Amino acid sequence: MAAIKRAASLVRAVQVVSAGGPFQIVEREIPEPGAGQVRIKVQACGVCHSDALVKDGTWPGLQYPRVPGHEVAGVIDALGAGVSAWTQGQRIGVGWHGGHDNTCPHCRRGDFFNCRNQKVAGISYDGGYQEFMIAPVEALVAIPDSLNAVEAAPLLCAGLTTYNALRHSGACPGDLVAVQGIGGLGHLGIQFAARFGYRVAAIGRKPEGATLARRLGASLYIDSESERPAEALQRQGGAQVILATAPSSKAMSQLIDGLRPNGKLVVIGLTFDPIEVLPVQLIAGYRGIQGWAAGTPADADDTLRFAEQSGVRPMIETYPLERAAEAYARMMSGKAEFRVVLTM
Ligand SMILES: [Zn+2]
Ligand SMILES: [Zn+2]
Repeated sequence: MAAIKRAASLVRAVQVVSAGGPFQIVEREIPEPGAGQVRIKVQACGVCHSDALVKDGTWPGLQYPRVPGHEVAGVIDALGAGVSAWTQGQRIGVGWHGGHDNTCPHCRRGDFFNCRNQKVAGISYDGGYQEFMIAPVEALVAIPDSLNAVEAAPLLCAGLTTYNALRHSGACPGDLVAVQGIGGLGHLGIQFAARFGYRVAAIGRKPEGATLARRLGASLYIDSESERPAEALQRQGGAQVILATAPSSKAMSQLIDGLRPNGKLVVIGLTFDPIEVLPVQLIAGYRGIQGWAAGTPADADDTLRFAEQSGVRPMIETYPLERAAEAYARMMSGKAEFRVVLTM
């Protein structure tokens, strides 16, 4: 391909032109940060299943064209007016939580993630599928020195979600915790659960999953094709927590009987059909079902620091920015092992 000579101020971005439309690589003027914002020189951006909300147009009211990407790692390239807590050249990231208003009823109670005017990076404004991105300071996460950008990126959504869901699940060290699905979320969930001191059961769909599950930290592997996971968990006394990561409501429904009394099914795999449960399954043994979504940039700080300290790392496949369409297709195929990351 012939090299395109571009003006110094033009930078590359990959945008979705319309709902259901293709990815398009464009050159644009380098953006300028406004008050309370920074410009990020993006080094890596994870490709997350939620980017389908932009690609398919399933996020209500989304404005096109839009640059997706909410697993962004890079360095601060320029500071907008009034930014004092961050410095030029600092290594930072941006995850799903792309900003909040500090004034709504939920923010007033410190629950920033549930802000009524929450902004989402790559949805409310252009995200990380580009060389330079603008973000508000309340969305920033500091990246520890020992994590490189490619490793840090998937930790800002997939890592944060599994880490935060597990640490708020109520499970204590030594408890049996099951992680259903060994994919983009599950392979991180198993690692975090093991580092938290849980006894980890990994639930996969083929016998070959056992070796990887053990390497990630699981002490027990359940092949859901050859045995019923709920029964296998009950033979171990039942799970205190089951982290459901694979997007199958049917599989999730079949897990509930694997909980021990007071146990909880924590749902992070996004599906659009119902989980089926009889009231008696919940009433007997006070069992519960809870959903969990990512977390704030402060939670992401904790995720990165814990990953640094404990050695939790994502398994990744990298693609250069100009191959974003191929990278996205690979992620959507479900065959990537396990997170797809764009590099700039
Ligand atoms: Zn995501
Ligand atoms: Zn708010």
